[in-house]
Amino acid sequence: MKKIVIASNNAGKLREISRILEPLAIEAMPQGAFGVPECPEPHVTFVENCIAKARHASAHTGLPALADDSGICVSALNGAPGVYSARFAGEPKSDARNNDKLIESLKGQSDRRAHYYCVMVYVRYADDPTPIIAEGAWHGEIIDTPRGDGGFGYDPYFLLPHLGQTGAELPQDEKNAISHRGQALRTLVERLKALD
Ligand code: IMP
Repeated sequence: MKKIVIASNNAGKLREISRILEPLAIEAMPQGAFGVPECPEPHVTFVENCIAKARHASAHTGLPALADDSGICVSALNGAPGVYSARFAGEPKSDARNNDKLIESLKGQSDRRAHYYCVMVYVRYADDPTPIIAEGAWHGEIIDTPRGDGGFGYDPYFLLPHLGQTGAELPQDEKNAISHRGQALRTLVERLKALD
């Protein structure tokens, strides 16, 4: 088994990523197991913050590292909340307050387009000049009234017009099959398989 470090301490993500990497004979260890300190995320793009997190985890452990970053980008808000999605309404982070702020920001706005975005970065070593970068984007529109109780975050307000369902109304496996995170993970796995 090849050991890599995952630049996240989120138990749900770690489970999901570990399950997907197991058939590739890759053992994924959380960065918490190595006492890796929090990584600053000063950038305004997902990919820059994600590269920073992966390099940071690799530098502290000497292992290859995988990081992910995700959020929602709303067209009428010039891509906001973007990298600030988790804390759009400030600290402490709250899905309910984030959603209230989003709906308030779109009052009277007819352009409702939005997309979730996810990026995953794998570095073989901290200074890897050719990191593997896998992306996914999931397009929909923001509605004013929440629907569904699955998912998390902005899902109850994120409508997939072609399905007539919100992200929170989709069963988890259907969401994984089409979501930004599912797309990025599948692309990443293909790219990892092709690694020497
Ligand atoms: P992170 O990648 O864990 O930092 O997530 C950033 C934030 O983006 C989350 O806290 C959510 O607000 C939002 N987000 C990312 N992916 C999803 C999703 O699949 N559904 C709902 N919200 C999401």
